[in-house]
Amino acid sequence: MLKLQNISKQFDHKIVLENINLEINTGEIVSLLGPSGSGKTTLLNIILGLTKMDQGKIIFNDVDLSHVPMKNRGFNIVFQDYALFPHLNAYENIVYGLRNKKGLVTEKELHDYIDFLELWPHLEKKIGELSGGQKQRVALARTLVTKPKILLLDEPLSALDGVIKESIKERIKSIAKEFKLTTIIVTHDPEEALTMSDKILIINQGTISQFGTPHEIINQPSNDFVKEFILKQL
Ligand code: ATP
Repeated sequence: MLKLQNISKQFDHKIVLENINLEINTGEIVSLLGPSGSGKTTLLNIILGLTKMDQGKIIFNDVDLSHVPMKNRGFNIVFQDYALFPHLNAYENIVYGLRNKKGLVTEKELHDYIDFLELWPHLEKKIGELSGGQKQRVALARTLVTKPKILLLDEPLSALDGVIKESIKERIKSIAKEFKLTTIIVTHDPEEALTMSDKILIINQGTISQFGTPHEIINQPSNDFVKEFILKQL
């Protein structure tokens, strides 16, 4: 279980997150949903260890990670722009994170991830030769092969549309299920959050408006902000 306790953060004396408390069970998909500038990415980066919080605790499986640096937390992220290396091919990108970590995955596990993401036909291709959905699958594979204890995804569907968006959505859901992987997704799109997540954290101006299942959010919105934000975009 991941526990966030009283997390607060300011940038330039502006409060960006205020007293965030959250508990996420192992294997759950949780979306951080809110309007632009509400603090979603900041919270994701604090969990990852990329951004330092001013106050609060991050506890994972009863271990306090609050002061543990990013590289030792064991979480990993797929950034919004994928951050793939254009001069390397898809395979070289996928194994890049393993370069100093011999033995982290076996050859069989690596092949299983490539199988699962259906990347065999694309391994030799340079990043510029891949479609948006293929890039996203390479980025997911590159992150999964590092065997993260928590998978963090920043707007994973925002660069995709139509059929590709739906297929990546289903794939993310099956990754969480297949690998029993706690997955935290940043999105500004209620429809995405409602259809992908076990639970949704709605953030508005750095504070929690509601945390609940999609069913609870739709049927028992805790305030007018939640009601309007969810309903106007459905
Ligand atoms: P979006 O959906 O637009 O990405 P968000 O909900 O993810 O928004 P954040 O990126 O977390 O929001 O930003 C929250 C607030 O913090 C914004 O006002 C942003 O300008 C500010 N902010 C974020 N990162 C920094 C930074 N490194 N330095 C100063 N201010 C920052």
